[in-house]
Amino acid sequence: MREKILYMLLALLVAGFWGCAEEETGEPVILPRTLSPYVLYPNDLANNDSASAHVAEGLQLLVHPKVSYTLSFEKDPNIEDAPVLQLFRLGEMVSEGRVSTSHVRTLEPKLEGSRYVYEFLCEELDRNTWVTTLVLDGELYKGTTRWARLAAEGPYSDTLSLNLIVVGKVDFLDSFMNENLFAELLLTNFRTYYSSIVIDTLYVRYAHEHPTLGSKYPANEPWVAGRSSDDMFVTELGGWPEPKLKNALDILLVHRIEADWVLGYSLLYGSNLQGGTGSTVVIGAYNKTPSGEEGVPYTSMISTAIHETGHFFGLRHTTATLADFEVDMDYSNYEDGFTDTPYCKDLLTSGLLKSRGGKPVSDFARLPTLRGRFATAFDMNSCPDSHNMMFPAVNEDGVDGFTEQQLEHIRKNLRVYPH
Ligand SMILES: [Zn+2]
Repeated sequence: MREKILYMLLALLVAGFWGCAEEETGEPVILPRTLSPYVLYPNDLANNDSASAHVAEGLQLLVHPKVSYTLSFEKDPNIEDAPVLQLFRLGEMVSEGRVSTSHVRTLEPKLEGSRYVYEFLCEELDRNTWVTTLVLDGELYKGTTRWARLAAEGPYSDTLSLNLIVVGKVDFLDSFMNENLFAELLLTNFRTYYSSIVIDTLYVRYAHEHPTLGSKYPANEPWVAGRSSDDMFVTELGGWPEPKLKNALDILLVHRIEADWVLGYSLLYGSNLQGGTGSTVVIGAYNKTPSGEEGVPYTSMISTAIHETGHFFGLRHTTATLADFEVDMDYSNYEDGFTDTPYCKDLLTSGLLKSRGGKPVSDFARLPTLRGRFATAFDMNSCPDSHNMMFPAVNEDGVDGFTEQQLEHIRKNLRVYPH
């Protein structure tokens, strides 16, 4: 499915070409010959070697309305003249095999130190994907474009509300636990760990009481995400239709997830607080195991919700797993790029957490980021990052939380996500 969609995009983009010259720069508008699968995300500090190599042709940028962006990369020391940056909107699938695209603008760079810097404001109405080309002397730029970065500054508030949506029948391992107590503890812990933003209110809602979809989610049946319906993110429950619940993060609590050892998931840079793709974070009260299922301690459920929400804000694992490399298709992103989070060499070479157990969830083929338990014995304490909230597996010895750079990243990206 994923390959097919990319192929269709390729075919479309190959067909498109504008010969007309733009007034300001004198350069012709040139679409990429191919659309690269690489995406550059707002404020991401990972190495992104593959994305960087594609700025001249077909790099995808995740953009949000009213946000100011700075795309920059290292100047090629062997080429004196600067290329212009051309941006194209990647639109909706309009019919089988066809996607709308349109030229957004052409920009000239400033040279700051050794880097070319292009600044632009996104004037979209909704979040979107833009695609780049670099053009010099009437053709696609042939120079190198190392260390590409997309810095983003948004106008939105640093306050976040949460919706805990209980889907189907949920039992807790801990006999004293119930939905309301869980919600209370979840809110307290979000306020403790997300200390760089304001966590305002947490609302609890039940899927069976949803005004239009309620009958699909019976209160007495356990919901197994990835099995009870095809959409493992249960996306339709995001964006609850009640004014005070709008513009909040939707955390879905289900019985369990249909993948061994997986406790929760979200999209890396889910980045959507308004319903639709990328708007839900899913956690389970039980864990699928090869021989059945087992309950998850409520402390691990809460830390999983906090961890997955970190991915929603664009935090990567402190040490990448093989599954993470599948998301990015970039082996240079073996750690998160923050200088105050160590990474674990032993874990990188261990081959653990490699199973994915998911499917592409949208037309743009972004894959979920999973959190689970190690299926085989691994001494987490050999990892210097094992107590960080974004360590890829649950550490039942507890977590220290986020570092200062992670907290700053969360604050910056909350201000980029419309809400
Ligand atoms: Zn994770």
